[in-house]
Amino acid sequence: MLLCVDGVPAYDIIQIINYIVLKGSTMTLNPSEREVLRLIYGSDGISRKALAEMSGLSQASLTKITKTLTEQEQIEEGERIGKGLGRKEVLLYANPRKYRYLGIDIGSFSIRLAVSDNGLNITHRKQFQTAHFSGEEPLLDHLTQEIAAFLEETGSSAIDAIGIGVSGIVDAGLRRIVNIPNVTGWDNLHIADHLSAAFQCPVYLDEGGRTMALAEKMKGKARGSKDFVVVHIGFGIVAGIMINGSLLRGYHNVGGLLGHTTVDESAGRCRCGNYGCLENVVTFPILEAAYRQGQGDKSISIVEAYALGDKVAIDICLNAGKALGIALSNLVNLFNPEAVYIGGAVAEQLPLVLEETKRTILLRANRFATVGLRPEVSSFGNNEGLMGSLTLAASSFLF
Ligand SMILES: [Zn+2]
Repeated sequence: MLLCVDGVPAYDIIQIINYIVLKGSTMTLNPSEREVLRLIYGSDGISRKALAEMSGLSQASLTKITKTLTEQEQIEEGERIGKGLGRKEVLLYANPRKYRYLGIDIGSFSIRLAVSDNGLNITHRKQFQTAHFSGEEPLLDHLTQEIAAFLEETGSSAIDAIGIGVSGIVDAGLRRIVNIPNVTGWDNLHIADHLSAAFQCPVYLDEGGRTMALAEKMKGKARGSKDFVVVHIGFGIVAGIMINGSLLRGYHNVGGLLGHTTVDESAGRCRCGNYGCLENVVTFPILEAAYRQGQGDKSISIVEAYALGDKVAIDICLNAGKALGIALSNLVNLFNPEAVYIGGAVAEQLPLVLEETKRTILLRANRFATVGLRPEVSSFGNNEGLMGSLTLAASSFLF
């Protein structure tokens, strides 16, 4: 017989209590303690004095709170700062060894896994082609096996929380992948509950662009910023839009679907069903295909041709940057962000696309919307998606 308390099986309650006692979960923290932990977590080391200024708490309260957090091993003291003979301030850090996270970045071409410590320092990574999971075996079972094997390779299967970022549509309850526009077989997948049962830890799911926005806000260039946009262009396009400190979600959690906005009706049919989506104009396979159809050297890729200064490749990059810049200038007019962070393989390997995009945004967006606007490269390069998934795991688990 399974005993229940208020509808929760007793077995689960014992597990939760064990977890809190053994691991010192943040579930035991009060709101002020959690806020101070969040400020320390989002910093690169912060003094008690700076914490008092940022939190509005008194020095006495702060001393008490940091003592509690230190006793729970949530934070630890680092180096002392200060000049001259005056009192030196000790910097406080989140304890990187306290928790361990798994990040899963599901894109239309590749699926990446990473394990990080509590400071979101990635310790292990692995990558699969998304097509690897399109075989006979049920997709979620196959994915679970690969994750389990990966965790074994890292030397420990113990994970405190899992974060998943998907280049697609996620249901409003944030438990299920609804659709990945460019990939078949991933519709209606209850991935969060499946992995939570398999790995016995909390699992958090969101759209990939939004997870990247979380990472930029927590550990990247957008710290302290409330209004910004993150765009990532690889084999697909994702965007995360932060408005007044909140992620844009929309009525059915589909808000921010930049890659499937129409930019050129003549660009052909997209796999989402629409014609002329931005993803049909700017993504890596599209640019490669445009190069193949042009007059350039067919024996090399567009990236190689670009590096050699090939005019066909350069013209393709300029056109792509212009199209992306026009799309982003519309976003700038609509949301008036402080910064637009652009990243992904296209921006990295064909930097002219990024430069033309930035130029076009400043040229096309309303001149009042571009006052102080910073269009720049995103913070984490190739790891932007993984950092997004890991930040989703940590921020949802801790705060
Ligand atoms: Zn589309």
